[in-house]
Amino acid sequence: MSRNKIPILQEEITGMHLDKLIQKAIVMGASESAIIDSQNISVEDNLANYCIEPKCVYYGLSPSCPPHVSGPTEFRTLKKTHTHAVVVRIIVPSAALFSDERRDIMRLLHEIAASVEKEAVRMGYTDSKAFAGGSCKIIFCYNHLECRRLSKNGKCRNPQNARPSMSGFGINVSNLIKKCGWPVNINGREAESDAEKMSWVAGLIMLG
Ligand code: SF4
Repeated sequence: MSRNKIPILQEEITGMHLDKLIQKAIVMGASESAIIDSQNISVEDNLANYCIEPKCVYYGLSPSCPPHVSGPTEFRTLKKTHTHAVVVRIIVPSAALFSDERRDIMRLLHEIAASVEKEAVRMGYTDSKAFAGGSCKIIFCYNHLECRRLSKNGKCRNPQNARPSMSGFGINVSNLIKKCGWPVNINGREAESDAEKMSWVAGLIMLG
């Protein structure tokens, strides 16, 4: 478990109050958390296009994924008004992401991102917006035939925790991790057994 603060922000932004958001993420179960300048978030159209071609199996299943999200263009606009952000990362055994544990890990990621967003709103960043990973349909509503918002124009079953995936907005997540000063490849140079390999998932909370 570690906490990083990137020395690229003005002193008033990196004050104690934003440190609370990092602490919130860690307490909730993040392995690492950092504050970054939003200009360090790389948004690339071609990454968002991967949701369409090759088509993701979760494409269109929930409002948190394309074609229902506003995509890279709107995220670039968001960067102009939300000048800084919290990044969270959960480090897990790679094997867990290919097992029944995956859903629990992704659910935790959404819960952490949503909790940091809510804490930011309480602190006065009332237009904060959290982004996580994966489709909320498969994470929260896997035992329902359809997303209630899309199928019946009704209320989300999990509004407290379900957040949009970064993928549909073209956010370069590897680059985001590097900007936090964290390694993308967290395994050593020595060949490790599959059981020892580690991986990660990440979320982003735009503060505004
Ligand atoms: S109802 Fe389920 S699938 Fe639809 S937005 Fe909410 S969490 Fe996602």
